[in-house]
Amino acid sequence: MRTTSVIEISQSALENNIEFIKSTLNENVRLSTVVKGNAYGHGIEYIVPMAEKAGVDHFSVFSTDEARIAKSVCKPDTEIMIMGYVDEEDVDWVLENGISCFVYQTEQLRLFLDRAKATGNKAQIHIELETGMNRTGFNRQQLRKVIPVIKENSDHFHVKGVCTHYAGAESIANHVRVQKQITRFNQGYKFLLLNGIHPEIRHSACSAAAIAYPKTQMDMVRVGILTYGYWPSKETQIHYLHKTKHKLNPLRQIITWRSKVMSLKNVKEGEFVGYGTTYMALEKKKIAVVPLGYSHGFSRSLSNQGRVLINGQRVGVVGMVNMNMATVDVTYVDKVKVGDEVIIIGKQGDNYITVSSFGELSEQVNYELLTRLPSRIKRIIKP
Ligand SMILES: *Cc1c(COP(=O)(O)O)cnc(C)c1O
Repeated sequence: MRTTSVIEISQSALENNIEFIKSTLNENVRLSTVVKGNAYGHGIEYIVPMAEKAGVDHFSVFSTDEARIAKSVCKPDTEIMIMGYVDEEDVDWVLENGISCFVYQTEQLRLFLDRAKATGNKAQIHIELETGMNRTGFNRQQLRKVIPVIKENSDHFHVKGVCTHYAGAESIANHVRVQKQITRFNQGYKFLLLNGIHPEIRHSACSAAAIAYPKTQMDMVRVGILTYGYWPSKETQIHYLHKTKHKLNPLRQIITWRSKVMSLKNVKEGEFVGYGTTYMALEKKKIAVVPLGYSHGFSRSLSNQGRVLINGQRVGVVGMVNMNMATVDVTYVDKVKVGDEVIIIGKQGDNYITVSSFGELSEQVNYELLTRLPSRIKRIIKP
């Protein structure tokens, strides 16, 4: 079955990005590739085996549903780590499959202990420390309560790691807060050691922290967005290029998103296009209809804003993006016909559309737009 658009993912671009990430790591730092959010919209089931080919043997997901997909496609020795939510009913599966998990709640730890005792499988845990994000993680007081539980049940717990997450390492505005978090993390780690808990590894860095604060790389990094060819922020990119005196962007976007022209129409001067009156043709126009709408992840915010490529030319979305269709102005495109390729993200001729050229820019636009790409759009793997 063909979907109204297809997403190609490039093995060579992915390998390029993973090689780049590895080149930024200190010696003996392990790489965990983050594939939460359906691998940032790319598709977990595709990205995991592709990244394995590039040498990755550790993946981070948010929850058990994602862990199950990763587990179903990965090599037997590949490790999977859940950084977020494990539902009660999934705990047995998690323990049985040796999936490691962040723990950040006393109740959660007790539940893991109960099920570990009942099933005879050890719980593989990463103790998450509250260092200033104020989202998940044990503070010192909670840690005092939790430590004896872990120590007394060393038959049932394997302390794989100690970890935290930074509140905005992609922006220099958060510099002081991040530095404080690093200090608190180191103190928390020492506190564990003093109390006889020896986590195998320490990990705290996401993409931005790994680049901007190399000391946060510790024993392992959890890198998401860079893997897919995007910088966590413009600031991180500038910081890196400046520090290394590189001129060119070392990352490659791994997605190409393409569709086709489904219909063409000539519109008279003074007529409106689509629902309502948001777009009026001020001159005679030729309009192409593309079978892509907000139900396909082509956001309504791209109405009268977005750009796509047709016949190598950049053209603008006119009128409102509908549920299944968008209209673009092809008045000045040569020889456009039904069936012509439309590039929504990627390269055509000499022109290129990046995810961030997708409309109003906000800091997190790459993350949000990517994860909204519906999993039902067909993925095609390219070399
Ligand atoms: C999402 C996430 C990461 C990866 O973040 P990127 O900015 O995509 O590298 C790392 N750690 C945790 C806990 C996360 O939630």
